[in-house]
Amino acid sequence: MTEKSIIIIGGGIAGLAAGCYGRMNGFRTRIYELHKKKPGGLCTAWKRQGYTINGCLHWLIGSGPGSKFHMIWRELGALEGMKIVDFEEYGRFESIADGTLIIPTDMDRFEKRLIEIAPQDRLLIREFISAVRVCMRVELPVDKAPEVMGLFDIIKMIFKNFPFLRIIRKWNKISLKEYGDRFKHPLIRKAFPELFLPDFPVTFMLMSFAWMHKKSAGYPVGGSLEFSRSIEKRYLGLGGEMHYKSRVAKILTEHGRAVGIKLDDGTEHRADYVISAADGHATIFDMLEGKYIDDRIRGYYEKLLLFPPLVYIAIGVNRTFRGLPSSAGGIAVELEEPLLVGGVEQRCLGVHIYNFDPTLAPEGKTVIVVMFQTDFEYWKKLRENDEQYKAEKEKLADTVVNLLDRRFPGLAAQVEMRDVASPTTFVRYTNNWKGSFEGWQVTPKTWSIGKVMKKTLPGLDNFYMAGQWVEPGGGLPAVALSGRHAIQIICKKERKKFTTMVP
Ligand SMILES: Cc1cc2nc3c(=O)[nH]c(=O)nc-3n(C[C@H](O)[C@H](O)[C@H](O)COP(=O)(O)OP(=O)(O)OC[C@H]3O[C@@H](n4cnc5c(N)ncnc54)[C@H](O)[C@@H]3O)c2cc1C
Repeated sequence: MTEKSIIIIGGGIAGLAAGCYGRMNGFRTRIYELHKKKPGGLCTAWKRQGYTINGCLHWLIGSGPGSKFHMIWRELGALEGMKIVDFEEYGRFESIADGTLIIPTDMDRFEKRLIEIAPQDRLLIREFISAVRVCMRVELPVDKAPEVMGLFDIIKMIFKNFPFLRIIRKWNKISLKEYGDRFKHPLIRKAFPELFLPDFPVTFMLMSFAWMHKKSAGYPVGGSLEFSRSIEKRYLGLGGEMHYKSRVAKILTEHGRAVGIKLDDGTEHRADYVISAADGHATIFDMLEGKYIDDRIRGYYEKLLLFPPLVYIAIGVNRTFRGLPSSAGGIAVELEEPLLVGGVEQRCLGVHIYNFDPTLAPEGKTVIVVMFQTDFEYWKKLRENDEQYKAEKEKLADTVVNLLDRRFPGLAAQVEMRDVASPTTFVRYTNNWKGSFEGWQVTPKTWSIGKVMKKTLPGLDNFYMAGQWVEPGGGLPAVALSGRHAIQIICKKERKKFTTMVP
């Protein structure tokens, strides 16, 4: 029997996952990726003057067996040979007037510390930590795509996850900013919104803390690109085809079915199915010319909130940070005066010190990353003038080095490498709409956790979307799962039993 074929647009984690599961289920798969030679999309890294800049991974849900996502990473060969660092701290918030809040990943220690600092907030603290403990017992239903679930699966899922559904109902309605405001202690009030994005529902924090406590949200040493390369290796090992330098310009359709793609060099390639694991806006409005859309989908692109674009500043320093505990979220240093970055006011300097990954820097040296949320239009306009764009990036790097020097005296003289990536850099390398680093933001007002976005478009058969533009909240586990789910849907259509294997 000849293999049915699937074309996958985009070799990010969603595309690679779709490729791997496609191969495991006997489809001929071809991934077309616009990058010259690197897999992973946003999950990438780049080299500068002997330093490696890790462009993505802070922590990976499913890094350890305490979460079902671990099985998916094993199926994808993602962690083959990689050492995992389980963080000692989630992070710290350093306030100018109110001291420092250290958040250990051990939640028993965190609870004790919070109560010592803020006995007046004891009840809130106990309520928060007991919700984290409920989340520690939860197993998210990741095995089956919602699209292939039957009534029995849904009942089983509700029954198994009842305590978590109650958590979602309660905590999804509250943003971190609103929650922080409930505390009496000024340090906790200020710290909570700074730990994730202020508009995030508290549920995200509860789940992340639960996974970290269970040692299932660590960091694979080697970083983002090595992680992506492991999955690419698995994909190629399964017999998948990878085509780099292949920008898809158009998705070919005939009589309401996707039948292939056209690259920007004019060549056409045909397949039984097409999965787009590339940017959602470009897929719907450019590659499909906005022909397969309804009000609901148009509404997403007009109204939903995006993860903001980032300015990503990496500094290589001739210095070690021995003694500083490994930290997932890094240090948020409150600034004496707000700083404007691309028109957006910053109150904190978010500092990630990669002292736990020796592969990123020569011996005795360390990579530091500072990220700012910024405004896409500002950088897009600035990019039109090369000189001004470069000058702005240099100025920002100077400012960051000075601020870091205040926090770590002597650092300015130890700087050996500086690199600034703007939102336009993210667009150039990954084509993500408005430079968004994780697609749609989930907030209590815009999208609730558990709500599903369809992977199909109206009027178009044999076509599916995967990745962060159909998985609000984004993130590596969600997009890998999305690729897996797309293949489950195709298997169902082909009346095939979905199968997986671990290398
Ligand atoms: C700074 C940063 C930190 C992050 N930290 C974490 C973290 O700690 N943990 C976590 O879980 N997640 C993290 N994320 C989020 C995570 O990286 C993303 O959600 C995820 O990688 C998105 O994967 P994707 O495959 O959906 O999309 P992408 O990575 O955007 O992949 C899409 C691919 O499609 C390609 N493409 C686009 N258009 C075309 C075209 N026309 N033709 C051919 N190819 C095309 C792109 O080049 C790209 O390779 C972080 C992201 C960033 C930027």
